[in-house]
Formats: sequence, C-alpha cells, structure tokens
Amino acid sequence: MKIKCPHCGSESFKVHQRNGHECNTIYRCQDCLRCFSGRRFTPYADTKLKPEKIVSVIQHLCEGNSVRSTERLLRVHRGTVLSMLALAGEHAQSVTDEYVRKLRPKYVQFDELWTFVHTKEAHLRRRDPAEWGDAYTWVALDSQTKLIISHLVGKRDAASANEFIADYASRIGGIHQATSDGFKPYIDAIETYFGADINFAQLVKVYGSPKEAPPDWYGPAEVINAIPTPIIGEPDEAHISTSHVERSNLNFRMHLRRFTRLVNAFSKKLDNLKAAVALYVAWYNFCRVHRTLRVTPAMEAGLTDHVWSVEELLNVGANASNKQAA
Ligand SMILES: [Zn+2]
Repeated sequence: MKIKCPHCGSESFKVHQRNGHECNTIYRCQDCLRCFSGRRFTPYADTKLKPEKIVSVIQHLCEGNSVRSTERLLRVHRGTVLSMLALAGEHAQSVTDEYVRKLRPKYVQFDELWTFVHTKEAHLRRRDPAEWGDAYTWVALDSQTKLIISHLVGKRDAASANEFIADYASRIGGIHQATSDGFKPYIDAIETYFGADINFAQLVKVYGSPKEAPPDWYGPAEVINAIPTPIIGEPDEAHISTSHVERSNLNFRMHLRRFTRLVNAFSKKLDNLKAAVALYVAWYNFCRVHRTLRVTPAMEAGLTDHVWSVEELLNVGANASNKQAA
C-alpha cells in the first residue's frame, strides 16, 4: 500500500516520529504540514490491537487454525479477525505483485480448485447475487521450485481462464512447457498470450464408474484414464503432467476449506475469499518451508535468500515505503 497524506493527498512527507513498531511511525506532510500515522497504510490498520497481536492472529490462520480456536486462544473477536484478514490479503497480493515476476520456469502445471461463496451452486435462487455459488481458485505451479507463480479466484469459464493466463504471462519470460487439465478455454487463452512461444499440452481425463463397481453404482465418477494431448509446440511427453500441482493443492484445499468456512460464516463475500487466497499464496511461497525442498519455494526460485516470518511478510511493503520516505 502506497503512503500519501490523508489530508491533502501529497506524496511528499518525512518521518516525524518513530514509535517502536514500524507501523506506528508518524509522518509529517511537506505540503500541508499536518501529521498522520503510517498505520493506516499497513495490514495493521482498522484495529487498535498491538501489531504483535495482529501478527499472531495472521500466523494462526496461515498455519491452519480455525477461526474459533484463533478467537479462543488469542481472545480476539471474530469480526476483528475477518477485517485483519481482508487487510492482510490485500497486502499479500501487493507483495506477490512486487516479488513474483520476471520468472523463467521450465515446467508449469495449472489446476483449478473448487470452493463456494455463501451458497452452493445447486441451491442458488434466481435473484441471488452473481458472486454467490461456485468459486474456483486457479493456480499455476512451477514443477521444479514449487512456487505458485500466479493465482486467480473466479468462475470456471472462458473469462476467468483469460484473466488467469494474462496474469501468468505477465510474470514469466522464455519458452517453457505448461500442462493444464482438459478445460477447453485454456487453449484460446494460451494462444492469445503466448502465440507459438510455448510448449503446451493438456492432460485430458476420462471419467467413469470404477471397474469393480456393482452395476447399480451411484458413487462419484473416477478418473479411469488421463490422455496426454499436445496442443502447441512440442511438449516433452514425460512432463505432460499435473501431478505436482494436484499434490501441492491438497494442503491448499485444506486451508481453502477453512477459508471458505470463515468467509461464509461472516460477510459471505467473494472479496473475503480473494483476500484469504492471496494471503495463503504469499505465505506458501515465502514463509512455509517446503517438506522436500527444505527451503521456501521463493528461495528455490531465487526471489529471496531466507525464510520470511509472518511479521516480515506483513511489514515488507511498509518497510520499503519507509525507506523511500526516510
Ligand atoms: Zn498534506
């Protein structure tokens, strides 16, 4: 979040007073000479709680605690937890936009994770808001570094596919190989943003009832076959796979379920789900040590040289602005 004078909008200001934690810095506007707190430009705004407490709440959520247990352990009201989540999510997205770019991946896998906002799609009524119902989190994962290069929360349709691939394309360079599932709108989107400069394949899954199932089988469909289908360029058959993104998404799914419960328990808005996903993605990339890599995906991808704490994740933008201002 960019700091500017809340009284006159000026972007020229100086540090007037430092009060312990970075977010409590007071600035003085060079144009109207009035003072203001830097706190409103950080994930620590909107509450009088101490920064340490806010960090602790976000940490609990990122590490998979339920809202109920976070509320109980830290004695913070649920409404406050949710407003912290919204600010932290917005901040996390700005961190992703600043750091996760200019990448040169070799093998990338796409996937979409299902969740819902407010009401499940099947129970929607005609006059319900358009943002209710199915919501999909689109994820692009670098197979080698396990970095989530790009994500988008939207529907599972052509418009979302387009927006997702546009964002993905803006963060990477160089010819590489990508695999998606058999969802058709990927093809147009990939052609639009990469032309022929990519090796792109789809893993088309064939669903059916299990072979040993009784003839009166009513259970969920299973994947009975996955057909590697080259679409653009010459994708290496051995790397036409979505197994890494699917495995990595198991954890994500678990967090997402909690986020969905959190979102649906309160304001039931798509924006809250977006905030939760943005926070999870930044935490996954920068703070969580990957079990097989032994470092964070961001370190493996060369975006940073150390494991970030949740506090560092929440402070990173504020620090940069403060450095500029000092
Ligand atoms: Zn001013």
